[in-house]
Amino acid sequence: MSATTTKIQMVDLRKQYDKIQAEIDTAVLNVIRNTQFINGPEVAAFKQELETYLGAKHVIPCANGTDALQIAMMALELKPGDEVITADFTYVATAEVIGLLGLTPVLVDVNPDTYELDLKLVEAAITPNTKAIVPVHLFGQCVNMEPLLKLAEKHNLYVIEDVAQAIGADYTFSDGTVKKAGTMGTIGCTSFFPSKNLGCYGDGGAMYTNDDALGAKLKMIANHGQSVQYVHDSIGVNSRLDNIQAAILRIKLRHLDEYAAARNRSAAYYDKAFANHPNIKTPVRSNKSTHVFHQYTLVGSDFNRDDLKKHLAALDIPMMVYYPIPLHLQKAYQDSRYKVGAFPVTEKLCASVFSLPMHTEMDEEQLKFITESVLSFFK
Ligand SMILES: *Cc1c(COP(=O)(O)O)cnc(C)c1O
Repeated sequence: MSATTTKIQMVDLRKQYDKIQAEIDTAVLNVIRNTQFINGPEVAAFKQELETYLGAKHVIPCANGTDALQIAMMALELKPGDEVITADFTYVATAEVIGLLGLTPVLVDVNPDTYELDLKLVEAAITPNTKAIVPVHLFGQCVNMEPLLKLAEKHNLYVIEDVAQAIGADYTFSDGTVKKAGTMGTIGCTSFFPSKNLGCYGDGGAMYTNDDALGAKLKMIANHGQSVQYVHDSIGVNSRLDNIQAAILRIKLRHLDEYAAARNRSAAYYDKAFANHPNIKTPVRSNKSTHVFHQYTLVGSDFNRDDLKKHLAALDIPMMVYYPIPLHLQKAYQDSRYKVGAFPVTEKLCASVFSLPMHTEMDEEQLKFITESVLSFFK
């Protein structure tokens, strides 16, 4: 490859920055010059712009996606003993906050094609103590929300959407209504971690809701439980998005749809290159949701995944496994109910999935090199 070609990365934030550098530098310098670092005008503007983009009544910015999930559960007044159902196949943060608040995480296996909560298993896991379901829109595609929302309604459960990987994805209901990921349940929780689809240059997160009272409560809890300065109605946390990050996010939000389109172009290239391959299953697309490809994740069969990783590493191509160990087999989440074999789909996925570079700046030369390199492993 030519000297000017950058090394292939899982996520190339530098190349993305190069294209928006003038805008970003000006915006960041403005915040520094104004010295309004916390609760500044950029945070207020970003909140409004994201509300408009999502069609959500309230967006409440906070410090990161994990905090967003925690504050959501606090605002819903979930208490120790309450059970919260979530997917065994997810990033740890989803289950972590459930445990941290003293609630009981109830893990459920996923659909082998879409990685969403298996609804039959969710229904079987519901007890009188169940208070909420946390669907995870994993890798950038929405869970099939319509039946999940119906099930939640039937059992009077809150739905907290973990939309950390799927900001901007659209879900279409059977009546034709289209909604953004995170705006369908009781509360949506997202992350602006740098590598996320809408990433800032540090940590950031947000909660969305269409419920006015809940919106006020989320805001209050994120701000030390105060609605009026120095008046504390409940125990809260300190979880803020800072003004510099908000200034960056305002710029990147304007590019979000174009970034999703770029990710989809790369995904289409990968799909075509790996179509009908005997050892590789390409991502299964939902006919109800768009995909924003936070990750491009394949399922492999009948080969050694570590050998593929080594083969690619020798060619300077990164490959990652999201996620190598199911939650129920992690030491922190051990539970007598959950033994090896308890969640066969997740266990199989963790042993066989692999993700290839996916970001907004991939070019055809890189895609060609990556796909040819993967395919040459099987020759
Ligand atoms: C990234 C992520 C989170 C946590 O977000 P942070 O901002 O890193 O705290 C939660 N859930 C999922 C599915 C994620 O991918």
